[in-house]
Amino acid sequence: MNLDHHKENKGNILLVDDIPENLQLLSDSLIKLGYIVRSVISGRMALKTVKAKRPDIILLDIMMPEMDGYQVCRTLKADEVLRTIPVIFISALDDVFDKVTAFESGGIDYITKPFQMEEVVARIENQLTIQRQQRLLEEENIKRRETEEILYQSKAMLASVLNSSLDGIAAMQAVRNPVTGDIEDFRCLVVNSLIARVFGSSCEDTISKLLLKKVLAPLEPELFNHFVNVVETGEPLKRDFYHPLGNYCWYHFVAVKLSDGFAITIRDITGRKQIELALQDANQKLEQLVNIDGLTQVANRRCFDGRLQIEWKRLAREQQPLSLILCDVDKFKSYNDYYGHLGGDDCLIKIAQILQQIVHRPADLVARYGGEEFLVLLPNTDLPGVTKVAQSIQQAIHAQAIPHAQSDMKDIVTLSLGITSVIPTSDIKPDTLIASADKALYNAKQNGRDRYCTYLLDT
Ligand code: GH3
Ligand code: MG
Ligand code: MG
Repeated sequence: MNLDHHKENKGNILLVDDIPENLQLLSDSLIKLGYIVRSVISGRMALKTVKAKRPDIILLDIMMPEMDGYQVCRTLKADEVLRTIPVIFISALDDVFDKVTAFESGGIDYITKPFQMEEVVARIENQLTIQRQQRLLEEENIKRRETEEILYQSKAMLASVLNSSLDGIAAMQAVRNPVTGDIEDFRCLVVNSLIARVFGSSCEDTISKLLLKKVLAPLEPELFNHFVNVVETGEPLKRDFYHPLGNYCWYHFVAVKLSDGFAITIRDITGRKQIELALQDANQKLEQLVNIDGLTQVANRRCFDGRLQIEWKRLAREQQPLSLILCDVDKFKSYNDYYGHLGGDDCLIKIAQILQQIVHRPADLVARYGGEEFLVLLPNTDLPGVTKVAQSIQQAIHAQAIPHAQSDMKDIVTLSLGITSVIPTSDIKPDTLIASADKALYNAKQNGRDRYCTYLLDT
């Protein structure tokens, strides 16, 4: 748009000469060439019209009555606003023309009469070009200053945001191998005061020289590749991170790609994490409480039921035997009556411990079924196997020899055991296993207690 403007209007020229004929000739030629031309015949008029409308260039005659060209030029140059208008002096050959005075008074060039039009135009164009370029330069200067101001403001804003942030913030730049282009490390571009403090340094200079690999080495070296991935794929990375530093040890960070690097925000989540971990711990304990018998610390019935379902299905698939022993303390009512309820509780705890010591395989399960009855679930164990375990239990109980003064049979605590074993199938309910063991136990009681009996389901 500016260029078009210059095409239409090649320049605004003011001609100053006391001889109108001189003016006419020059003016006509210049107008023909596309310039806008104003002519005045005295220095005074020149100064007046220049103030009213600023020309791009002034062609100024030297020899004029009243006020000569030098004076006009000096007056212009003394004016803050008008001084930048270029003045080209025109002088007749027979004038006593002093080039030095011409330049000293502020003239930029001179033309001697008679002149060739081409020369005049060339000199005018020279000045106009310089002027246009100066104008462009000034415009660019103004733009640059505006940009600098915006940049300064945004920098100030960034700094205030960074330094008032409760999160640690850093911008990292990839350090690439000049040959392969691979990311070899990351360098800090910006860090806020929070991060600077973590590094125990207020000097951002040290941090800007800091390379990430070195920082990660003692913490979690694998993280480096994850950060490279952020830059190469543009996918953000979010993580909880453990690193004990002063009072804080848990951090959450988010890294997002930022030009050829990434920006990272790090938040202290120690408080939240501690609550989280305490909750996890509490949940774990709760889980245990739900599955463990409070008195004897072996599995409770709820736990047993769950395991029975799982093992039943698994062994039905594998077509492997599942065995069960149901143990009941003999004459425990009289034990309680004699030794008191607390004595009875102690006895149950001891029996649970003995049972727990007998079974060894990871899948074996001792559970308190209720009152003074215990269950021993033995997956992948056949009838000879479960019989052996039952015998071991009996021996161990005898060996422990817990006194039972009121027992009819012996003066120690004994157990009656009901044994059963089955290869599970999907059309039999798992509960039948307990029912079978119960029948076997009933037989053991009937046959005189302190013994084991077996009952097998017809399949
Ligand atoms: P049997 O030889 O026929 O099994 O006789 P028993 O007395 O052991 O049988 P019964 O089922 O009649 O009695 C079980 C008794 O076990 C009842 C109760 O006194 C006692 N008992 C059940 N649960 C607990 C408990 O948690 N703590 C204590 N101390 N005693 C319990
Ligand atoms: Mg009982
Ligand atoms: Mg009993």
